This record gives sequence, structure tokens and C-alpha cells, in this order.
Amino acid sequence: MDATRKQLEQWDHEHLWHPFTAMSAYTSEAPVIIDRAEGCYLYDLDGKRYIEGVASMWCNLHGHQVPELDNAIRDQLDRVAHSTLLGLSNTPAVKLARKLAEIAPGNLSHVFFSDDGATANEIALKMAFQYWQQRDDPRPKKTKYLALSQAYHGDTLGDVSIGDIAHFHAMFKPLLFDTYRAPQPYCYRCPLGLERATCQIDCVADLETLVEEHHEELAALVVEPLVQGAAGMIVVPEGYLKRAREVTKAHDVLLIVDEVVTAFGRVGSMFACDLEDVVPDMMTLAKGLTGGYLPLAATLTHSEIYNAFLGKPEEYRTFFHGHTYCGNPLGAVVAMANIDLIEKSNLIEKLPPKIEILRESLDRMSELPIVGEVRKKGMLAGIELVAKRETKSPFPVEMRMGNRVCREAAQRGAWIRPLGDVVVLMPPLSIEENLLRELCQITLDSLKEASNWSG
Ligand SMILES: *Cc1c(COP(=O)(O)O)cnc(C)c1O
Repeated sequence: MDATRKQLEQWDHEHLWHPFTAMSAYTSEAPVIIDRAEGCYLYDLDGKRYIEGVASMWCNLHGHQVPELDNAIRDQLDRVAHSTLLGLSNTPAVKLARKLAEIAPGNLSHVFFSDDGATANEIALKMAFQYWQQRDDPRPKKTKYLALSQAYHGDTLGDVSIGDIAHFHAMFKPLLFDTYRAPQPYCYRCPLGLERATCQIDCVADLETLVEEHHEELAALVVEPLVQGAAGMIVVPEGYLKRAREVTKAHDVLLIVDEVVTAFGRVGSMFACDLEDVVPDMMTLAKGLTGGYLPLAATLTHSEIYNAFLGKPEEYRTFFHGHTYCGNPLGAVVAMANIDLIEKSNLIEKLPPKIEILRESLDRMSELPIVGEVRKKGMLAGIELVAKRETKSPFPVEMRMGNRVCREAAQRGAWIRPLGDVVVLMPPLSIEENLLRELCQITLDSLKEASNWSG
């Protein structure tokens, strides 16, 4: 017999340890258990529906139960669900690798598959490291990385070492390698005390100086392009990425661009790099790669790096890294169907009116007393809540304001999740204009409600 709702709730609390979730707070109230989803709606066990406000953790592009994606997986199931990529190939992985090489910026023609954003970045770090050790003109001192303050690149120890979000990463300090750190381009709270209207993007000048001073030991600079996601949807000033590319190129430092959030239309173009005409040395993809269907990730690079790994097997120049499910055929086939659908449905070309709706709604939200700043790039937005606008002072952590606003929104029929006191909006790109308006209205109403609690 099927489990009853009561049993599921009980088992959830007794056995399921949720990621990035304060479990005692979580288990102190009834869980929301999603049972099915369709289009841009999630349905819980009671049949209550929620608008998909954060795209199932920033990865869903076309909504749920999309016939093209469902069918791709069903058809592949009649062929093979999984077969290894270690010394063996499979049809969907080959086709997807070629497609990614075709749409990626510049000369990124080699694709290494893995499962998650974290693995894609871990792979990029190890590849960069090994490249400098064994290329024809080796540079063995290049063993360090430069990354940004408040960076987030995933939760494996390499990624945590280049990451810099204290609540997530500080605990593990004894396990981590040292990373050079450039100031965060966080204009609302500029670490250099400047104003965006008058500054010369001095934060990137600091980054340039760090590259100039330390290039001899730097293997790579790692950046989230255009938007620092987990840091609170920090929108990086225009031109920053381009200057990061120029300075790394000038000083023989690899540029690794973490497009895990930004790729596949989220910022209004296929890749964030396209908006600044940047070709990195490595690009990592994950969240949107399968349209939000299955775990699959990719690390792309160019021939100069790839070639450094060639040689006779007994020379051991091989990249000794892999995961059991690398290039999983079900994942690859749905990723291919996802990219086809992005192209056929003109998903990206249809974004501008939606981006405009989001912008207008955010403008209205920005007038509320508890909103310090709204940030937006393409189809993603962050709404930073503050106790006092004049001083930009945050709410006491224990008020869990971001969380409370999102719970309010859930009651009103939208599922959103904050980053601390930054409320995030990131619906599937396919969301219809009216539903997007409704999502924004619910968010606005929830913020207004929250203004009342704070007096
Ligand atoms: C989510 C995220 C990752 C990690 O991806 P996972 O698939 O969750 O491991 C890496 N980089 C950025 C910028 C992310 O937002």
C-alpha cells in the first residue's frame, strides 16, 4: 500500500537530512512535500499548488513535464540508461559534447562531463593545476588560485577552498588550501567605500594588481561571471569580466569561468561570457544543462590545455579523474533535448518582455521601507532586505526575515527561497508573462506584509 501523507511527513523528519537546511527549524513544522509538477507549478501532497519562483534551485528552464524532454528520456530508456565513459563512449554523450563545443564561446572544443556544478569546478581546478605541471614548457610554481570574496563554487573541498562564504566555509578552514582573494564587486556595500556612479570599478583594479603581483604562482583566476549567485545575487559591474580576461591573458594565468548559474539563457544570452565577448580558458556548466531534469555537468576547455594531457600512456600525463556516472546517457540525451528546445522555442529571444515585467515589479518593491536594494540581471533577481534603509543595517539574524518573507509567499501560492536576507526570484525562463506578474505580485505582497512585522 502507498504511504499515507502522515507517514511521509514522519519519515521525512525521521530519516531525510536536507541539504543547506537548518534541520531543527525544519522539523519543527510540517514539511511541504512535492508530489508532482506541471509547467511552472509545483503541487504538494494536498494538491496545493505553488508557482516555481526559484526554478527548483536555479536549474529549471522550460517548466515541468515538458513533452520534448520527457520523450527524450523515455526513448533513451529503450536503448540504454547508463554505460561508462571510462575508455568507452555512448551516442548521447558524443552528440552533446559536439553540440556544446559548437555553441560555447571561441575555441572551447573539449568537454569533460561530470555530475554537478561542484564536480565541474573541482575538475577545472585540477585540470588547471596539472596543465601547468606537465605542459611542454612547464611552470611548476603555478599552483595557486585567485578567487573573489564571497565566491561560491560548490561544496567539495577544492571548491570550498576557492569559496569564501563564512557560514558555509569557515568551519572547514583546516582542510583547505590557501587562495588569493580579490575584493567583492558588491556595489551596495562597496568594500572599498566607493559609489558606483563615480568609481572606475576600482575593485577590478585590485584584481588586476593581484594578478600582476602573483602571476608566477597563479594557476588560474576563478570567477562567477556577471553575477555572484550564492553571495546574494551580486550583480558585477559591466566590463569587470572583460578586464579579468585581459589581465589574466597578459600574465599567463588561466581564466576559469563558472557559468553554473548564468548559462543557458538565465542572464539573457546563451552564456554570460557572450555578453562581454569573453572566451575563457575553461568554462563550467551544470544547473541549466539538462533544463532542470537530471544531474549532469560539463567542464569545457581548449586544445592548448587538452594537448598537455596527451602522450604515451606510460608517461602518465592522463587526467586521472572521473565519476561513475560521467556522461550518463539519460542526462546527455535530455541535455541535448534541452539545448534543442532553447533554440527551437526561441526561449532566449522571447525573454526581453519578461525581463521588463521583472524590472517594473522590482522597481515597485524597491520603494518598500524594508528593501535596501534590488539587483537584477536577465531573468534573475535579488531583493536585499534591511532594517534601516539610511544605514543599510541588516535585520537581526534570528528574525530570519528572508525566510519569513518566503514562507509568507508560500502561503500565497509561490515557492521562493532566500539567500539569508536576500529574497531571490529566478523562475523558469519559459514562465508565461501573466504568471510572472502573479509571482511578482505575491512577492510584493509578502514583502509588504513583512514591513508590518518590522514596524
Ligand atoms: C550551485 C552552484 C555551484 C554548485 O553546483 P552543484 O550542482 O550544486 O554542485 C557552483 N557554482 C555556482 C556559481 C553555483 O551557483
